[in-house]
Amino acid sequence: MNLLCQRLNLTSLDAQLPALLDAARVQHLSYEAFLELALTAEVAGRQQRAQERRLRAARLPFPARLDSFDFRFQPSVSERLMRELASLAFLQTATNVLLLGPPGVGKTHLACSLAMAALEVGHSALFVTLRDLAQQLSAAPPRGGQAAVTRYSQPTLLIIDEVGYSSLSAEQAQGLFDLVATRYQRHSTILTSNLTFAEWGALLGDVVLATALLDRLLHHAEVLAINGRSYRMRQRMGADQMAPVLRGGSRADEPLGNILAE
Ligand code: ADP
Ligand code: MG
Repeated sequence: MNLLCQRLNLTSLDAQLPALLDAARVQHLSYEAFLELALTAEVAGRQQRAQERRLRAARLPFPARLDSFDFRFQPSVSERLMRELASLAFLQTATNVLLLGPPGVGKTHLACSLAMAALEVGHSALFVTLRDLAQQLSAAPPRGGQAAVTRYSQPTLLIIDEVGYSSLSAEQAQGLFDLVATRYQRHSTILTSNLTFAEWGALLGDVVLATALLDRLLHHAEVLAINGRSYRMRQRMGADQMAPVLRGGSRADEPLGNILAE
């Protein structure tokens, strides 16, 4: 029987067969009930392996959960909005999510928890820091350049983390624009950043390109400005010593021209 399971690639059934046969004997299962039990075990095993593959492929830095996020610690994050996002309706409308704020406020945690929710129901997700993405966008073919744009265009959910820690070359800025334009109205992107929108011109080295990029990014977007304390520093400093750092807050509804002209 093991040999037959192996020839048919029934890995989970192969592993569980002795236990399933015992259960069938003890419970006097009918042929139909036993066959259903056996097939269900195989299907569940396959789903779990596919889930593990998707999780590995997503390259998340840590498997964060919304349930482990302390909303009381970070009151500027709307729990209602995060729960709504975790229901994943935003993926259907290719809505983007921008998580803005200083270091340690939970941007990467929140982004990863949305990715985990998406992976759990079978979507593909991919995590990359802007620094790594930029390197790949300007790398030589066959992996770099257009191939990188194509690779990062595919996943249903893309997370671009730490936008703003490094500024981009002209080639990298164009690559990032191409990626955002390709994903626009097709797939959702989550971006985390410590920058205000006014600073994107300097990041891309081109105000016109930054305006065009932000235009697409923000057309269908939820912008969460987190202006609280660093969770990393919570044990070292008292709450009152950590002043909110992000200047400007959420400015999604302001015309881009105004923001970028500042
Ligand atoms: P950021 O990306 O904004 O710099 P992170 O998401 O990396 O911050 O958060 C830093 C660490 O603190 C992570 O380990 C994260 O899980 C944890 N963390 C941040 N905010 C919270 C919070 N409100 N509740 C629970 N853990 C948090
Ligand atoms: Mg982070």
